Amino acid sequence: MLKPVGSRCNLACTYCYYRDKGHELLSEGLLEEFTRQYLEAQTMSQVLFTWHGGEPLLRPLSFYRKALELQRCYGQGLQIDNCIQTNGTLLTDEWCEFLRENNFLVGISIDGPEPLNVLRTPSTFHHPPSTFHHPPSTFHQIMRGIGLLQKHGVQWNAMATVNAANVDHPVEFYRFFRDIGCQFLQFTPVVERGERMEERGEWKEERGERKEESDECITPQQWGRFLCAVYDEWVRRDVGQIFVQLFDATLANWVGESPGVCSMAPTCGHAAVMEADGSVYSCDHFVFPEYRLGNIKEKTLTEMLYGERQLHFGLQKRDALPRQCRECEFLFACNGECPKNRFTSDRCGNPGLNYLCEGYRQFFSHVAADMDFMAAELRAGRAPANIMLTSHLSPHTS
Ligand code: SF4
Ligand code: SF4
Repeated sequence: MLKPVGSRCNLACTYCYYRDKGHELLSEGLLEEFTRQYLEAQTMSQVLFTWHGGEPLLRPLSFYRKALELQRCYGQGLQIDNCIQTNGTLLTDEWCEFLRENNFLVGISIDGPEPLNVLRTPSTFHHPPSTFHHPPSTFHQIMRGIGLLQKHGVQWNAMATVNAANVDHPVEFYRFFRDIGCQFLQFTPVVERGERMEERGEWKEERGERKEESDECITPQQWGRFLCAVYDEWVRRDVGQIFVQLFDATLANWVGESPGVCSMAPTCGHAAVMEADGSVYSCDHFVFPEYRLGNIKEKTLTEMLYGERQLHFGLQKRDALPRQCRECEFLFACNGECPKNRFTSDRCGNPGLNYLCEGYRQFFSHVAADMDFMAAELRAGRAPANIMLTSHLSPHTS
Protein backbone atom coordinates (compact mmCIF):
# COMPACT_ATOMS: atom_id res chain seq x y z
CA MET A 1 0.00 0.00 0.00
CA LEU A 2 1.32 3.39 -1.00
CA LYS A 3 0.53 6.84 0.35
CA PRO A 4 1.16 9.27 -2.52
CA VAL A 5 -0.08 12.30 -0.55
CA GLY A 6 0.47 11.13 3.02
CA SER A 7 -2.63 11.95 5.03
CA ARG A 8 -3.64 15.02 2.98
CA CYS A 9 -7.33 14.98 2.21
CA ASN A 10 -10.03 17.34 1.00
CA LEU A 11 -12.43 15.78 3.50
CA ALA A 12 -12.03 15.41 7.24
CA CYS A 13 -14.18 12.45 8.21
CA THR A 14 -14.55 12.55 11.93
CA TYR A 15 -13.53 8.92 12.48
CA CYS A 16 -10.50 8.89 10.15
CA TYR A 17 -7.67 6.90 11.75
CA TYR A 18 -5.12 8.39 9.43
CA ARG A 19 -5.56 12.12 9.99
CA ASP A 20 -2.48 14.03 11.03
CA LYS A 21 -0.09 11.25 10.07
CA GLY A 22 1.97 13.61 7.92
CA HIS A 23 1.37 15.61 4.79
CA GLU A 24 4.52 14.77 2.90
CA LEU A 25 4.20 13.92 -0.80
CA LEU A 26 5.75 10.73 -2.15
CA SER A 27 8.64 11.82 -4.37
CA GLU A 28 9.12 10.38 -7.83
CA GLY A 29 12.53 9.12 -6.74
CA LEU A 30 11.04 7.06 -3.91
CA LEU A 31 8.22 5.92 -6.15
CA GLU A 32 10.76 4.55 -8.61
CA GLU A 33 12.78 2.86 -5.87
CA PHE A 34 9.66 1.28 -4.41
CA THR A 35 8.38 0.12 -7.81
CA ARG A 36 11.69 -1.45 -8.75
CA GLN A 37 12.15 -3.26 -5.45
CA TYR A 38 8.53 -4.32 -5.14
CA LEU A 39 8.44 -5.81 -8.63
CA GLU A 40 11.84 -7.46 -8.32
CA ALA A 41 10.79 -9.08 -5.03
CA GLN A 42 7.71 -10.75 -6.55
CA THR A 43 7.55 -14.52 -6.64
CA MET A 44 4.07 -14.60 -8.23
CA SER A 45 3.14 -13.44 -11.71
CA GLN A 46 0.29 -11.21 -10.46
CA VAL A 47 1.09 -8.03 -8.59
CA LEU A 48 -1.17 -5.48 -6.97
CA PHE A 49 -0.41 -1.83 -6.23
CA THR A 50 -2.80 -0.18 -3.77
CA TRP A 51 -2.96 3.61 -3.77
CA HIS A 52 -4.30 4.99 -0.56
CA GLY A 53 -4.55 8.22 1.36
CA GLY A 54 -5.42 10.70 2.57
CA GLU A 55 -7.02 11.39 -0.74
CA PRO A 56 -4.79 10.03 -3.52
CA LEU A 57 -6.55 12.03 -6.25
CA LEU A 58 -4.96 15.17 -4.82
CA ARG A 59 -1.95 14.03 -6.81
CA PRO A 60 -2.20 15.01 -10.50
CA LEU A 61 -2.80 12.47 -13.24
CA SER A 62 0.74 12.96 -14.44
CA PHE A 63 1.97 11.32 -11.22
CA TYR A 64 -0.02 8.15 -11.93
CA ARG A 65 1.01 8.15 -15.58
CA LYS A 66 4.59 8.16 -14.36
CA ALA A 67 3.79 5.33 -11.91
CA LEU A 68 2.40 3.18 -14.71
CA GLU A 69 5.42 3.91 -16.87
CA LEU A 70 7.65 2.67 -14.02
CA GLN A 71 5.51 -0.43 -13.58
CA ARG A 72 5.90 -1.25 -17.28
CA CYS A 73 9.61 -0.60 -17.10
CA TYR A 74 10.35 -2.82 -14.06
CA GLY A 75 7.51 -5.32 -14.33
CA GLN A 76 7.97 -6.92 -17.70
CA GLY A 77 6.24 -10.30 -17.85
CA LEU A 78 4.15 -9.59 -14.76
CA GLN A 79 0.45 -8.94 -14.62
CA ILE A 80 0.15 -5.70 -12.70
CA ASP A 81 -3.12 -4.48 -11.23
CA ASN A 82 -3.82 -1.18 -9.53
CA CYS A 83 -6.51 -0.23 -7.10
CA ILE A 84 -7.10 3.18 -5.67
CA GLN A 85 -9.09 4.15 -2.61
CA THR A 86 -10.74 7.55 -2.96
CA ASN A 87 -13.64 9.58 -1.65
CA GLY A 88 -14.56 10.21 -5.29
CA THR A 89 -15.23 13.92 -4.92
CA LEU A 90 -12.37 14.95 -7.21
CA LEU A 91 -13.21 12.59 -10.08
CA THR A 92 -13.56 14.12 -13.52
CA ASP A 93 -14.15 12.72 -17.01
CA GLU A 94 -10.42 12.83 -17.60
CA TRP A 95 -9.67 10.86 -14.43
CA CYS A 96 -12.31 8.27 -15.27
CA GLU A 97 -10.97 7.78 -18.80
CA PHE A 98 -7.51 7.21 -17.36
CA LEU A 99 -8.78 4.79 -14.71
CA ARG A 100 -10.75 2.74 -17.24
CA GLU A 101 -8.00 2.67 -19.84
CA ASN A 102 -5.60 1.36 -17.22
CA ASN A 103 -8.03 -1.06 -15.55
CA PHE A 104 -7.88 0.51 -12.12
CA LEU A 105 -10.27 -0.86 -9.54
CA VAL A 106 -11.67 2.13 -7.67
CA GLY A 107 -12.80 1.86 -4.06
CA ILE A 108 -15.23 4.66 -3.19
CA SER A 109 -15.66 5.65 0.43
CA ILE A 110 -19.31 6.33 1.16
CA ASP A 111 -21.33 5.49 4.24
CA GLY A 112 -24.81 5.14 2.80
CA PRO A 113 -27.58 7.53 1.70
CA GLU A 114 -27.28 11.22 2.50
CA PRO A 115 -28.75 11.19 6.03
CA LEU A 116 -26.38 8.36 7.00
CA ASN A 117 -23.27 9.82 5.38
CA VAL A 118 -22.96 12.70 7.81
CA LEU A 119 -19.57 11.88 9.32
CA ARG A 120 -17.86 12.31 5.95
CA THR A 121 -17.30 16.01 6.38
CA PRO A 122 -15.40 18.59 4.34
CA SER A 123 -12.02 19.68 5.58
CA THR A 124 -11.50 23.15 7.05
CA PHE A 125 -8.28 23.11 5.09
CA HIS A 126 -10.23 23.33 1.83
CA HIS A 127 -13.23 25.23 3.15
CA PRO A 128 -12.61 28.43 5.11
CA PRO A 129 -13.87 28.37 8.71
CA SER A 130 -16.58 30.91 7.84
CA THR A 131 -18.32 28.31 5.65
CA PHE A 132 -17.66 25.47 8.02
CA HIS A 133 -20.72 26.07 10.18
CA HIS A 134 -22.75 25.03 7.16
CA PRO A 135 -20.34 22.73 5.34
CA PRO A 136 -21.40 21.63 1.88
CA SER A 137 -22.73 18.09 1.79
CA THR A 138 -20.10 15.65 0.65
CA PHE A 139 -22.78 13.15 -0.32
CA HIS A 140 -23.67 14.82 -3.62
CA GLN A 141 -20.03 15.23 -4.55
CA ILE A 142 -19.39 11.55 -3.91
CA MET A 143 -22.48 10.54 -5.89
CA ARG A 144 -21.37 12.75 -8.75
CA GLY A 145 -18.07 10.81 -8.73
CA ILE A 146 -19.88 7.46 -8.74
CA GLY A 147 -21.99 8.66 -11.67
CA LEU A 148 -18.84 9.49 -13.62
CA LEU A 149 -17.32 6.07 -12.88
CA GLN A 150 -20.49 4.39 -14.10
CA LYS A 151 -20.65 6.57 -17.20
CA HIS A 152 -17.11 5.59 -18.15
CA GLY A 153 -17.45 1.92 -17.23
CA VAL A 154 -14.78 2.01 -14.52
CA GLN A 155 -14.80 -0.95 -12.11
CA TRP A 156 -15.67 0.27 -8.65
CA ASN A 157 -16.71 -0.95 -5.28
CA ALA A 158 -18.08 0.78 -2.23
CA MET A 159 -16.21 0.94 1.03
CA ALA A 160 -18.38 2.07 3.88
CA THR A 161 -17.67 2.59 7.50
CA VAL A 162 -20.28 1.47 9.97
CA ASN A 163 -20.41 4.20 12.55
CA ALA A 164 -22.69 5.72 15.14
CA ALA A 165 -24.64 7.60 12.44
CA ASN A 166 -25.61 4.66 10.25
CA VAL A 167 -25.35 1.52 12.40
CA ASP A 168 -28.98 1.61 13.51
CA HIS A 169 -30.25 1.84 9.91
CA PRO A 170 -28.97 -1.37 8.32
CA VAL A 171 -31.80 -1.93 5.85
CA GLU A 172 -31.76 1.64 4.57
CA PHE A 173 -27.96 1.39 4.36
CA TYR A 174 -27.93 -1.84 2.37
CA ARG A 175 -30.80 -0.97 0.03
CA PHE A 176 -29.10 2.28 -0.87
CA PHE A 177 -26.07 0.42 -2.21
CA ARG A 178 -28.25 -2.03 -4.08
CA ASP A 179 -30.29 0.80 -5.60
CA ILE A 180 -27.25 2.68 -6.92
CA GLY A 181 -26.00 -0.44 -8.71
CA CYS A 182 -23.16 -1.29 -6.37
CA GLN A 183 -22.05 -4.90 -6.88
CA PHE A 184 -19.17 -5.04 -4.41
CA LEU A 185 -19.64 -3.74 -0.91
CA GLN A 186 -17.17 -3.67 1.94
CA PHE A 187 -17.87 -2.25 5.32
CA THR A 188 -15.62 -1.57 8.26
CA PRO A 189 -16.83 -1.02 11.81
CA VAL A 190 -15.63 2.19 13.41
CA VAL A 191 -13.92 1.18 16.61
CA GLU A 192 -11.96 4.10 17.92
CA ARG A 193 -11.03 4.70 21.45
CA GLY A 194 -11.25 8.07 23.12
CA GLU A 195 -7.61 8.91 22.57
CA ARG A 196 -6.68 10.63 19.35
CA MET A 197 -4.19 9.02 17.01
CA GLU A 198 -1.15 10.76 18.45
CA GLU A 199 -1.91 9.25 21.80
CA ARG A 200 -2.37 5.77 20.54
CA GLY A 201 1.20 4.87 21.38
CA GLU A 202 0.00 4.61 24.97
CA TRP A 203 -2.66 2.18 23.91
CA LYS A 204 -0.10 -0.53 23.46
CA GLU A 205 0.95 -0.37 27.10
CA GLU A 206 -2.62 -0.03 28.19
CA ARG A 207 -3.93 -2.92 26.15
CA GLY A 208 -6.30 -4.99 28.15
CA GLU A 209 -7.86 -2.01 29.89
CA ARG A 210 -11.29 -0.86 28.87
CA LYS A 211 -11.24 2.70 27.54
CA GLU A 212 -13.99 5.10 26.67
CA GLU A 213 -14.91 4.84 23.03
CA SER A 214 -15.24 7.89 20.82
CA ASP A 215 -18.54 9.38 19.64
CA GLU A 216 -18.33 7.71 16.23
CA CYS A 217 -17.70 4.30 17.68
CA ILE A 218 -20.36 1.60 17.56
CA THR A 219 -21.16 -0.89 20.30
CA PRO A 220 -20.70 -4.65 19.87
CA GLN A 221 -24.46 -5.10 20.20
CA GLN A 222 -25.13 -2.57 17.44
CA TRP A 223 -22.59 -4.33 15.24
CA GLY A 224 -24.28 -7.69 15.75
CA ARG A 225 -27.73 -6.30 14.97
CA PHE A 226 -26.41 -4.46 11.94
CA LEU A 227 -24.71 -7.51 10.44
CA CYS A 228 -27.73 -9.74 10.98
CA ALA A 229 -30.13 -7.25 9.42
CA VAL A 230 -27.94 -6.58 6.38
CA TYR A 231 -27.38 -10.29 5.94
CA ASP A 232 -31.15 -10.94 5.99
CA GLU A 233 -31.69 -8.38 3.24
CA TRP A 234 -28.86 -9.79 1.16
CA VAL A 235 -29.64 -13.48 1.47
CA ARG A 236 -33.22 -13.10 0.28
CA ARG A 237 -32.43 -11.92 -3.23
CA ASP A 238 -28.85 -10.83 -3.83
CA VAL A 239 -26.58 -13.84 -3.29
CA GLY A 240 -24.36 -14.14 -6.36
CA GLN A 241 -25.41 -10.66 -7.53
CA ILE A 242 -24.04 -8.38 -4.84
CA PHE A 243 -20.79 -9.35 -3.17
CA VAL A 244 -20.57 -8.30 0.43
CA GLN A 245 -17.00 -8.81 1.56
CA LEU A 246 -17.73 -9.99 5.09
CA PHE A 247 -20.33 -12.52 3.94
CA ASP A 248 -17.98 -13.84 1.26
CA ALA A 249 -15.17 -14.08 3.81
CA THR A 250 -17.44 -15.93 6.24
CA LEU A 251 -18.43 -18.44 3.59
CA ALA A 252 -14.80 -18.86 2.54
CA ASN A 253 -13.82 -19.65 6.13
CA TRP A 254 -16.78 -22.01 6.38
CA VAL A 255 -15.37 -24.07 3.49
CA GLY A 256 -11.75 -23.73 4.60
CA GLU A 257 -10.66 -21.34 1.85
CA SER A 258 -8.71 -18.13 2.31
CA PRO A 259 -11.16 -15.38 3.34
CA GLY A 260 -9.61 -12.74 1.10
CA VAL A 261 -9.64 -10.08 3.81
CA CYS A 262 -6.97 -9.85 6.46
CA SER A 263 -9.29 -9.15 9.38
CA MET A 264 -10.90 -12.59 9.09
CA ALA A 265 -7.68 -14.48 8.31
CA PRO A 266 -5.74 -16.44 10.95
CA THR A 267 -2.60 -14.33 10.62
CA CYS A 268 -1.60 -10.82 9.49
CA GLY A 269 1.46 -9.66 7.63
CA HIS A 270 0.33 -8.86 4.09
CA ALA A 271 -0.94 -5.32 4.55
CA ALA A 272 2.30 -3.40 4.98
CA VAL A 273 2.34 0.23 4.01
CA MET A 274 4.99 2.62 2.77
CA GLU A 275 4.65 6.22 3.90
CA ALA A 276 5.57 9.17 1.73
CA ASP A 277 8.97 9.49 3.46
CA GLY A 278 9.87 5.89 2.61
CA SER A 279 9.13 4.45 6.06
CA VAL A 280 7.54 1.03 5.96
CA TYR A 281 5.13 -0.16 8.67
CA SER A 282 3.64 -3.56 9.43
CA CYS A 283 0.10 -2.45 8.64
CA ASP A 284 -1.84 0.65 7.69
CA HIS A 285 -3.57 0.49 11.08
CA PHE A 286 -0.29 0.27 12.95
CA VAL A 287 1.59 3.31 11.74
CA PHE A 288 3.30 3.81 15.10
CA PRO A 289 7.01 3.92 15.87
CA GLU A 290 7.10 0.43 17.35
CA TYR A 291 5.73 -1.07 14.12
CA ARG A 292 8.17 0.72 11.82
CA LEU A 293 10.11 -1.90 9.87
CA GLY A 294 12.61 0.56 8.46
CA ASN A 295 12.97 2.96 5.55
CA ILE A 296 13.33 2.01 1.91
CA LYS A 297 16.30 4.38 1.71
CA GLU A 298 18.17 2.18 4.20
CA LYS A 299 16.76 -1.33 3.87
CA THR A 300 15.33 -3.37 1.03
CA LEU A 301 11.63 -4.17 0.90
CA THR A 302 12.49 -7.87 0.97
CA GLU A 303 14.40 -7.43 4.23
CA MET A 304 11.52 -5.53 5.76
CA LEU A 305 8.53 -7.52 4.47
CA TYR A 306 10.01 -10.98 4.89
CA GLY A 307 12.07 -10.24 7.99
CA GLU A 308 11.69 -11.53 11.51
CA ARG A 309 9.71 -8.55 12.81
CA GLN A 310 7.03 -8.67 10.16
CA LEU A 311 6.76 -12.42 10.52
CA HIS A 312 6.30 -11.97 14.25
CA PHE A 313 3.69 -9.25 13.68
CA GLY A 314 1.75 -11.60 11.41
CA LEU A 315 1.83 -14.57 13.77
CA GLN A 316 0.92 -12.49 16.82
CA LYS A 317 -2.62 -12.29 15.51
CA ARG A 318 -2.99 -16.02 16.13
CA ASP A 319 -0.55 -16.45 19.01
CA ALA A 320 -1.97 -13.65 21.16
CA LEU A 321 -5.58 -14.89 21.09
CA PRO A 322 -7.09 -15.00 24.56
CA ARG A 323 -8.53 -18.19 25.97
CA GLN A 324 -12.11 -17.28 25.09
CA CYS A 325 -11.19 -17.11 21.41
CA ARG A 326 -9.17 -20.31 21.51
CA GLU A 327 -12.21 -22.11 22.90
CA CYS A 328 -14.74 -20.34 20.69
CA GLU A 329 -16.85 -22.43 18.32
CA PHE A 330 -16.54 -19.66 15.71
CA LEU A 331 -12.80 -19.21 15.87
CA PHE A 332 -12.44 -20.74 12.39
CA ALA A 333 -14.66 -17.98 10.97
CA CYS A 334 -13.60 -15.04 13.10
CA ASN A 335 -9.97 -15.59 14.01
CA GLY A 336 -10.36 -12.91 16.66
CA GLU A 337 -10.82 -10.29 13.89
CA CYS A 338 -8.36 -7.40 13.63
CA PRO A 339 -5.80 -6.99 16.45
CA LYS A 340 -6.39 -3.22 16.50
CA ASN A 341 -9.82 -3.94 18.01
CA ARG A 342 -8.60 -6.31 20.71
CA PHE A 343 -8.63 -4.18 23.80
CA THR A 344 -11.15 -5.81 26.10
CA SER A 345 -10.77 -8.75 28.44
CA ASP A 346 -12.27 -12.17 27.97
CA ARG A 347 -14.53 -13.88 30.46
CA CYS A 348 -11.50 -15.27 32.31
CA GLY A 349 -10.03 -11.79 32.64
CA ASN A 350 -7.36 -12.33 29.98
CA PRO A 351 -6.53 -9.24 27.92
CA GLY A 352 -6.79 -9.16 24.15
CA LEU A 353 -10.43 -9.98 23.44
CA ASN A 354 -11.90 -8.17 20.46
CA TYR A 355 -14.15 -5.28 21.45
CA LEU A 356 -16.70 -6.45 18.83
CA CYS A 357 -16.75 -10.07 19.99
CA GLU A 358 -20.35 -10.12 21.12
CA GLY A 359 -21.51 -8.71 17.79
CA TYR A 360 -19.55 -11.27 15.83
CA ARG A 361 -20.88 -14.12 17.92
CA GLN A 362 -24.40 -12.91 17.32
CA PHE A 363 -23.77 -12.74 13.57
CA PHE A 364 -22.09 -16.14 13.27
CA SER A 365 -24.86 -17.81 15.27
CA HIS A 366 -27.43 -16.12 13.08
CA VAL A 367 -25.91 -17.28 9.78
CA ALA A 368 -24.51 -20.67 10.81
CA ALA A 369 -27.30 -22.79 9.33
CA ASP A 370 -27.27 -20.80 6.08
CA MET A 371 -23.50 -21.02 5.87
CA ASP A 372 -23.68 -24.80 6.36
CA PHE A 373 -26.11 -24.96 3.46
CA MET A 374 -24.11 -22.70 1.15
CA ALA A 375 -20.87 -24.49 2.01
CA ALA A 376 -22.50 -27.83 1.14
CA GLU A 377 -23.66 -26.39 -2.19
CA LEU A 378 -20.16 -25.17 -2.94
CA ARG A 379 -18.62 -28.53 -2.08
CA ALA A 380 -21.12 -30.24 -4.36
CA GLY A 381 -20.13 -27.92 -7.20
CA ARG A 382 -23.38 -25.97 -7.06
CA ALA A 383 -23.99 -22.26 -6.57
CA PRO A 384 -24.41 -20.92 -3.02
CA ALA A 385 -27.08 -18.69 -4.55
CA ASN A 386 -29.34 -21.77 -4.49
CA ILE A 387 -30.09 -20.74 -0.97
CA MET A 388 -32.54 -18.25 -2.43
CA LEU A 389 -34.49 -21.10 -4.11
CA THR A 390 -34.90 -23.25 -1.07
CA SER A 391 -37.13 -23.25 1.93
CA HIS A 392 -33.90 -23.54 3.89
CA LEU A 393 -34.00 -19.91 4.88
CA SER A 394 -34.81 -19.51 8.50
CA PRO A 395 -38.10 -17.77 9.39
CA HIS A 396 -36.44 -14.41 9.95
CA THR A 397 -35.22 -14.36 6.35
CA SER A 398 -38.26 -15.72 4.55
S1 SF4 B 1 -3.70 -5.62 11.98
FE1 SF4 B 1 -5.81 -5.73 11.18
S2 SF4 B 1 -5.77 -4.52 9.29
FE2 SF4 B 1 -3.63 -4.99 9.84
S3 SF4 B 1 -3.14 -6.86 8.69
FE3 SF4 B 1 -3.86 -7.47 10.73
S4 SF4 B 1 -6.06 -7.85 10.49
FE4 SF4 B 1 -5.37 -6.66 8.72
S1 SF4 C 1 -16.42 -14.54 18.20
FE1 SF4 C 1 -15.35 -13.59 19.95
S2 SF4 C 1 -14.52 -15.31 21.11
FE2 SF4 C 1 -15.04 -16.08 19.06
S3 SF4 C 1 -13.12 -15.89 17.92
FE3 SF4 C 1 -14.33 -14.02 17.55
S4 SF4 C 1 -13.59 -12.52 19.04
FE4 SF4 C 1 -12.91 -14.56 19.72
